Amino acid sequence: MNKATVTEIRKQFEKALEEVRDTAALEALKHGYLGRKGIIAGLFARIREVPPESRKETGELLNSLKTDLSAAIDARSMQFAVPRKQKEITDFSMPGYAMHHGSRHPLTQAVDDMLNIFQHLGFDIAYGPEVEIDWYNFESLNFPPDHPARDMQDTFYTEGGGVLRTHTSPVQTRYMSTHKPPVRIVAPGRVFRNEAISARSYCLFHQIEGLYIDEGITFADLKGTIELFCRLYYGKDVRIKFRGSYFPFTEPSAEIDVSCFLCGGKGCPVCKQSGWLEIMGCGMVDPNVLKAVNYDSERYSGYAFGLGIERMLMMRLGINDIRILFENDVEFLKQF
Ligand SMILES: [Zn+2]
Repeated sequence: MNKATVTEIRKQFEKALEEVRDTAALEALKHGYLGRKGIIAGLFARIREVPPESRKETGELLNSLKTDLSAAIDARSMQFAVPRKQKEITDFSMPGYAMHHGSRHPLTQAVDDMLNIFQHLGFDIAYGPEVEIDWYNFESLNFPPDHPARDMQDTFYTEGGGVLRTHTSPVQTRYMSTHKPPVRIVAPGRVFRNEAISARSYCLFHQIEGLYIDEGITFADLKGTIELFCRLYYGKDVRIKFRGSYFPFTEPSAEIDVSCFLCGGKGCPVCKQSGWLEIMGCGMVDPNVLKAVNYDSERYSGYAFGLGIERMLMMRLGINDIRILFENDVEFLKQF
């Protein structure tokens, strides 16, 4: 083995490298020359055939051959590297994805709007349970034992003798049982009636109850508060009308009509051409209710009112089927 041998092997390698077309062939070439039993290793093994005085020079020659071949193979392998993925292009002219965001249910919106007004008028918000005991739902509110509202036809009873509250009025006596006068609260919530489900009635609906008890409260305070509420909620031109009525827990009692906000009082199908819409019941709290919660009915007096949210909302939105408010039809709800 001499310098010529090394030069010859270098030439052979360079020729073979030129013919390599893929990674597999390159690997084979690398194995053939630089592998443990490859050509270079064979040359190192033959170094003992070289005369001692030339061994150092031959060794250096073989080392540089090995280094050069290794570098050449690395350089060639770069050419076979997987081409880098083309950079993703953003097309700014493409239409964007529509973002659908949710909204509050119209019933929730109506309740929130009303509570907001009452809070500005100085009312606190109170809540009570939906499953009530008979005493709060009926007895404390001066319902005689034979009152038709207690009838199985109207009330859902639970197995343990409770009732699903038929109105938000039990929150009145619940609140007064634990608070000393004066009290000024509004109580929103769901109420339940055992009625056949139809376009006009549903087994549950929402009410807001109001209660104000203090010394010297009169019907004039009730009228003033209701009138202010109606102006803030329906607009400053609304007119209101009190009609005498009857509720067990108020005396005297009244129902309140507002001038139809759809036709302005001229008459339309919603107000049945009367120009008026009934929106709530109210009255001065019956002394028997105050006595039931140990309030001094000689010293304290006050008023209560209750309004049905669904009925009001149906009139306002021109809905003629109450069921749509409970069906969660996205197409309907999207409008709000
Ligand atoms: Zn009308």
